[in-house]
Amino acid sequence: MTDTKYQYIDGEWIEGESDETMTVRDPAAPDDPVISFPQADRAQAKAAVEAADAASDEWAATTPDERDTILYDVADRIEDNLDELAATLTREEGKPISSSRAEVSRAAELFRYIASYARTATGDTVPSSDPETFTYTFREPLGTVALVTPWNFPIATPSWKLATALATGNTVVFKPSSETPMIAKRLVELIEAAGLPDGVLNLVVGSGSTVGDEVTTNERIDGISFTGSTGTGQHIAESVADRGIPVQTEMGGKNPLVVMPDADLDAAADAAVAGAFGLTGQACTATSRLIVHEDVADEVTEAVVERAESLSIGPGMDDPDMGPAVSADQDETNFEYVDVAADDGATLLTGGSRPEDIDSGYFIEPTVFGDVESEMQIAQEEVFGPVLSVMEVGDFTEAVAVANDVAFGLSASIFTSDMAAARQFTEQVEAGVIKVNGTTTGSQIQMPFGGMKASSSEQAKEMGQRAYEFYTHEKVVYRTDP
Ligand code: NAD
Repeated sequence: MTDTKYQYIDGEWIEGESDETMTVRDPAAPDDPVISFPQADRAQAKAAVEAADAASDEWAATTPDERDTILYDVADRIEDNLDELAATLTREEGKPISSSRAEVSRAAELFRYIASYARTATGDTVPSSDPETFTYTFREPLGTVALVTPWNFPIATPSWKLATALATGNTVVFKPSSETPMIAKRLVELIEAAGLPDGVLNLVVGSGSTVGDEVTTNERIDGISFTGSTGTGQHIAESVADRGIPVQTEMGGKNPLVVMPDADLDAAADAAVAGAFGLTGQACTATSRLIVHEDVADEVTEAVVERAESLSIGPGMDDPDMGPAVSADQDETNFEYVDVAADDGATLLTGGSRPEDIDSGYFIEPTVFGDVESEMQIAQEEVFGPVLSVMEVGDFTEAVAVANDVAFGLSASIFTSDMAAARQFTEQVEAGVIKVNGTTTGSQIQMPFGGMKASSSEQAKEMGQRAYEFYTHEKVVYRTDP
């Protein structure tokens, strides 16, 4: 890709005007940059917000049919370009090509499913206490929304936000992660090709502290949907708190998988490995704590270590079980946490080093620590890499207490054949998404998604049947005819 026009403002592709350059690297071969281009500056971010604001009345006035037709067309275009989009994604983010293909297909599904919100974001007709008065509610778009996204699902996450915002009649300023601008640009190109009017969708690619700050704090912004780390999400929420606009923040996790002695232990070990090392641990719902009953701890831990050691590691284009970390920063973080865990007294059971047969790229072996206690840093902080902590507990009550003993509350899972215990777990565990006998990762788009505690602002969940609520005002009408 040699096109360096990465900013899409008011229907035009233009060069960034910042002095700073953005360089995209293949995390499996970072020495040869894929592309460099100038970033947007604050003035361009402001212009993007102004363009979206100017387009907002006209877009809000379109019919649901006009909006969903465009979004269905986007879904088709994503599918038509699946191979190229998946390769672009793997090149800049590093995930195995089959995972990229699945993510691109999911993006198409999301556009198709969410397009229907254009027609289903309805209000209610409510029985009135006064026979002369007709009581009902209706929904209208917020206006102009800022969408700020991370790099780990760089087409799926923007797709569910963009589709929801557009279906409900909002205009958008989209600020993707600096690690994954290429797939963001391609997505916007496909949406543009589907016939969106100028100004309705704007893309600005630049740093979080300037471009991200402008698109979230600009007073023409009527709502913010953010996915990313807890620190950034909380900073954004605080910086606009005085404006009272809706702010949806979906953030980090430290997700537990509990194994009880009556569980299918093979299935539990499979799920722990898939959840901890799939996507190189770079999923907000990744399994980072394996909380296992002492009666089966040795057996489960052994099975997990054996499976971890059998995973293939390599460049995403070779479709290994596990690709590289996304960036030099994340690579450094992964190795730092290996040291921190060892210093705190955890026992390294496997991994913790670069794979011997790979000589470049941000690779680390799947890593498992045993003897982890709740007060250790490795049990409390999100690594966002393939590092799993094994924690032994004596009974169900202790398992739930340990599971809840973190600031986060995104996803959680229990493996057991006791359905009463499973139900108790769903009631007692502090997590927004709960699985019984399943991986902490993975979700269905018709189910709502989002966390609790420091994982989410809990404004409204994303996806599912009512994700449109966040993107709309609900107005309540009492109509008494003269
Ligand atoms: P990040 O917080 O570093 O960045 C996210 C986005 O915010 C990027 O686009 C970044 O440029 C932007 N940003 C940074 N500073 C900003 C500022 N001051 N103002 C406005 N925008 C700013 O996160 P990341 O490293 O890209 O992603 C990894 C994190 O995302 C992990 O913590 C992971 O758990 C989380 N995540 C959460 C979910 C979820 O649904 N809960 C899903 C995926 C990822």
